[in-house]
Amino acid sequence: RGTPALRVTEWSDLVEWWPELGPASEKYTRGVVGVATGSETYPGAAVLSVGGALAGPTGLVRYAGSARAEVLHQHPSVIAGGRVADAGRVQAWVCGSGLGTGADAAAELRAVLAAPVPVVLDADALTLLVDGSLADRLRGRDAPIVVTPHDREFTRLCGEEPGADRVGSALRLAAWMNAVVLLKGDRTVIGTPDGRAYVNPTGTPALATGGTGDVLAGLLGSLLAAGVPADRAAASAAYLHGLAGREAARGGPVTAPDVVTALRPVVARLG
Ligand code: AMP
Ligand code: MG
Repeated sequence: RGTPALRVTEWSDLVEWWPELGPASEKYTRGVVGVATGSETYPGAAVLSVGGALAGPTGLVRYAGSARAEVLHQHPSVIAGGRVADAGRVQAWVCGSGLGTGADAAAELRAVLAAPVPVVLDADALTLLVDGSLADRLRGRDAPIVVTPHDREFTRLCGEEPGADRVGSALRLAAWMNAVVLLKGDRTVIGTPDGRAYVNPTGTPALATGGTGDVLAGLLGSLLAAGVPADRAAASAAYLHGLAGREAARGGPVTAPDVVTALRPVVARLG
């Protein structure tokens, strides 16, 4: 049975793809996700992306960046501090949300790209790719890359707007960047470099609020660190993020921390 080139993600897919938590599980075998996000100006982005990562299947989150105090205050289970290059063992990196676009941020992005593990690039990391001609570094990379642009970020990366054919747009960028593209919007679509696409059916406009993308990036990184292939990780993260947004909206206007809170019971249904 072949996989269709375009599919709408279903709950049964997530059940099939979700990593098993067996009795012999141990925090390192569950995966370690590294989070290089946030800055003194945007510490909230670090807290939110770490929150998303902690809601995923991994056993340990390491944070590298300058929002250490805020991250530890909100999430004491995280190992936090220092730079990407000093972080120790990490099985996937999340980079970009609130990172800034200065020389220091660019150095951290380079360190992330040099690591031989899957990475999620979001927000400022995407700006740095465009401005710093770092895009060249993506093509020779063996480990998977997932980029998570919203429409404006897509336009900057691509030089043109996504347009009506969002699947086609995501696929074109995926082929050009040699990366899985998760194009965010009311119907988030995911395109792979080898021409497969997923459409996410769980979106909700309740997610159209500051910081929810940071939560998604963290969750996606956790799935990658747990060993889920990049396309399935992206489709699963978008699906769960949408469900969490819907759950959170039942309690009133949604803020990004509400999405983190709502993710836990949603993810628990996969257990
Ligand atoms: P960001 O702009 O990076 O914070 O990401 C926003 C998140 O909210 C993404 O996951 C989008 O898919 C989601 N989102 C934004 N607007 C909508 C919408 N109108 N309907 C559904 N999801 C949305
Ligand atoms: Mg964003």
